[in-house]
Amino acid sequence: MNKKRHILVVGSGVSGYAAAVAAAESGGVVTIVDKACYPGGQCTHVNVGTICGLFIKDELIEHPFLTDFYKSYCDFDEQARVINHAGYPVLSYDWKRLTDYFSQKLTENKVEVLSSAQISGIQTSGSLITEVLIEKNGEELPLAVDAVIDCTGKAVVTEFLGTETICSDNYQAPAYIFELSGVSANSEFQLQMILSRFVAKMDFPPLYVVPGSFKTGKVVLKLALKVAGTDDEDQKEQLLVATQKFVQEKLLPELKEQTEAFGKATISVLFPEMGWRTGKRPKGKKILTENQLKGSFKSSDFVAVGAWPMEEWKEDGQVEIKTLTGVCYGIPAGCLRHNTFDNLFMAGKNISADERAISSARVTGTCLQTGFAAGKMAGADNAMDLERVIEKLYQTIEHYF
Ligand SMILES: Cc1cc2nc3c(=O)[nH]c(=O)nc-3n(C[C@H](O)[C@H](O)[C@H](O)COP(=O)(O)OP(=O)(O)OC[C@H]3O[C@@H](n4cnc5c(N)ncnc54)[C@H](O)[C@@H]3O)c2cc1C
Repeated sequence: MNKKRHILVVGSGVSGYAAAVAAAESGGVVTIVDKACYPGGQCTHVNVGTICGLFIKDELIEHPFLTDFYKSYCDFDEQARVINHAGYPVLSYDWKRLTDYFSQKLTENKVEVLSSAQISGIQTSGSLITEVLIEKNGEELPLAVDAVIDCTGKAVVTEFLGTETICSDNYQAPAYIFELSGVSANSEFQLQMILSRFVAKMDFPPLYVVPGSFKTGKVVLKLALKVAGTDDEDQKEQLLVATQKFVQEKLLPELKEQTEAFGKATISVLFPEMGWRTGKRPKGKKILTENQLKGSFKSSDFVAVGAWPMEEWKEDGQVEIKTLTGVCYGIPAGCLRHNTFDNLFMAGKNISADERAISSARVTGTCLQTGFAAGKMAGADNAMDLERVIEKLYQTIEHYF
């Protein structure tokens, strides 16, 4: 990189964190902005509880950033690798530890973190974004940028630009997650059996134990809501309030009364956000489709490896899991590049993909990789350099295709 590039990452979820670190490693001056007051996005605000998409069968995907992340987390907790309900290896994590890990890595990489802030305007010139206005504490700060990476999980930058998004009438159903203390049982399996019987009797939405979360009388539970996904922010807020009320005033009192295992349970954490699995995404130079998730699809601009099955949560609270036909698939760089703005990149659940393809590519292990790739791509000085960066990203994962 000749002159230091100013790179803005919008959203400090798992993909934003990876993008910011990768952009800083490329020599960029990086700012990350998030409306929330701590990093981690859905991993820490929703506490989805496990990191999927890190493995191909039982083997960790060979990718430098994933390896580093996996090893660092297992140094914290040697028991973190567990098997989930469907039989896949995943990494269980503690949301506070993960928040600290992200914060520490952003600081080490000298990323400027603007939390409790959001973008309020964008200036463009031709096919380039030149300046972004950031609103923090009631003030607007102008930031000149060479590249922007949209990691908001809901096409926030694209919406400001007024360009095309990929929408669906069929977004996945959301879930709400909370932690209980004072729970007594022999195993997670036993707890799951108790919960399954309880929800069937009460006609409540399905309740799942987050794998690896039952420790010292605490357990994290995922309530799979029987409603359709939406992009409507007011509806989202109303559902969050109603669900928190339901958990506190109906679900827990009944659970305490009707089961011995939860007889002394209390709520230790009500997570601050509802978990919306999918929503609108920016349209990129390419769109990842279900057909491309077949192992036979090849492209020399693959920058990430997807290995998680297509996992779709339906309005009836049930999940449909469709195994990949190959062992893995590649995500082309074009899905991380905005359709019309040349210095706008996307990562995480915000990549350009159809609703079926994102049901696989949205998992955290894949978000880490697309974040890393978008960060490296945003660090490229010019079009030729970008081609070189993409080639290098491809070389690190080429052996999978
Ligand atoms: C209920 C549920 C269960 C899941 N279970 C699993 C699981 O078990 N394993 C797994 O691997 N994955 C799971 N996932 C998927 C995975 O957690 C997410 O897809 C992934 O965390 C998305 O990361 P991201 O960085 O792309 O986006 P996000 O985590 O959504 O981060 C986006 C960030 O952008 C910020 N932001 C949004 N709007 C603005 C704005 N206007 N200005 C500034 N900042 C903004 C947000 O505050 C947030 O921090 C689950 C998801 C859900 C919803």
